[in-house]
Amino acid sequence: MAGRDAGWIDWGRQYPAAGCRIETPSNVEEMREIVAADHGPVRAVGAGHSFSPLVADAETLVSLDSFKGIEAIDREKGIARVRAGSRLHELTAALHEEGLAFRNLGDIDAQSIAGATATATHGTGVSLPCLSAEIAGLEILRADGSMVEIDGERDPDLLAAARVSLGALGIVTRIDFRVVEAHRLHRRTWSMPLAEALSSAQDLWRTHRNFEFYYIPFSDYCLAISHDLTDEAPRAGPKGDDDAAVHDLRRARDLLGWWRWLRRLVIRRELARFPEEDAVDYNWKLLASERNVPFRETEYHLPVDTALDALKEAVAIIEARCPEVFFPIEVRQTAGDDSWLSPFQGGNRISVAVHSWWKDGHAVLQSLVEPVFLAAGGRPHWGKMHGLGREKLEALYPDFARFDELRREWDPQGRFVNDHLATIFGVSR
Ligand SMILES: Cc1cc2nc3c(=O)[nH]c(=O)nc-3n(C[C@H](O)[C@H](O)[C@H](O)COP(=O)(O)OP(=O)(O)OC[C@H]3O[C@@H](n4cnc5c(N)ncnc54)[C@H](O)[C@@H]3O)c2cc1C
Repeated sequence: MAGRDAGWIDWGRQYPAAGCRIETPSNVEEMREIVAADHGPVRAVGAGHSFSPLVADAETLVSLDSFKGIEAIDREKGIARVRAGSRLHELTAALHEEGLAFRNLGDIDAQSIAGATATATHGTGVSLPCLSAEIAGLEILRADGSMVEIDGERDPDLLAAARVSLGALGIVTRIDFRVVEAHRLHRRTWSMPLAEALSSAQDLWRTHRNFEFYYIPFSDYCLAISHDLTDEAPRAGPKGDDDAAVHDLRRARDLLGWWRWLRRLVIRRELARFPEEDAVDYNWKLLASERNVPFRETEYHLPVDTALDALKEAVAIIEARCPEVFFPIEVRQTAGDDSWLSPFQGGNRISVAVHSWWKDGHAVLQSLVEPVFLAAGGRPHWGKMHGLGREKLEALYPDFARFDELRREWDPQGRFVNDHLATIFGVSR
């Protein structure tokens, strides 16, 4: 176990854990003692890769860094039993040794499995659900110290509640996660005008296993990325350097921000020089990459029929009012699922994500795009920055009140409630 104020800070460098106790229990008994201790809010922490203050303002942070690795594999059912603190990249590498893989991944693989699933972390693909939907069962330590094992076959309703929990139901210690055979993907990247991306996106999502595009602000151009299953042998293609590209976009903003036509011209020239990738490799090697330039992010998951119009409107607002924005706007699609707090509950959603460089501030951008995304029926990513409280969230999630009832039953004293969760669930403190 560790002591007070051990210097924890989230990836985005927004929420230093000053004065907070950071504990790293090595077994369930120690975890039970920490939860039972007479302190203020206790929050489980994974890799600290959330942009929203889900794990800030706690008296105690419980790290699951001692809970790592694969415990067992049921090949017949296609389920790996994994410990909750395992990082995604640790699991994908270990599964590969067993000839297995995650069905899908998001942009990075630095998160813990419990942290990623607690916020419905997703990648892209019309038939590919978010990571939380792959949970077939889990084990969770509740506020009263009791351990609950949830098996999706025996208790599908309870599992639907616990898959996306924001750490509000207790501390997940173990997850039964659905996996697939190891497989290779063919990756292609290319650029195209925004108008073409908007008119062809639905077809491209239908055609490719994974498809996404990034709109480059102030350019009218997008970078498109597709991944498809292949038996071809691995081959490396020319690789774009995401961090260097972001650096170039910032330079164009700094030097040419006030001459928009020139900025547009320079970005297009840079895009033309960005290598078109054509590569084959195992899915975990291609889907996730490193992100080394800190940023802030807001992402909304929108109904498929309103999303692209909302994107167009958001782009127009950003280009009229936010000359400082240079990070690409990311657009993905995820299959629906039935978890109570999943933003994808009830059907496929298209996700639109806007980013600010960490030194620029994010409040203005967020305040301008949120009304557009909300009017289009969007639901915010739980792990990214949003300004919604209980009233609005309850209107967006049919099972919100049901989840909160369970939360209050399992945690009547609000041991797992910090300031952010108090806003989300309307808890007065
Ligand atoms: C650079 C970057 C890229 C990203 N890319 C994507 C992306 O492509 N797609 C996407 O959807 N999201 C993305 N995210 C968001 C990220 O996946 C989520 O915010 C995710 O929840 C972070 O996981 P974590 O392990 O860091 O958890 P943390 O941020 O540490 O915690 C997140 C939540 O999980 C809870 N939690 C953690 N461990 C446990 C546990 N053992 N039991 C119960 N609750 C627990 C915490 O209490 C908290 O509520 C990205 C974030 C960053 C910084």
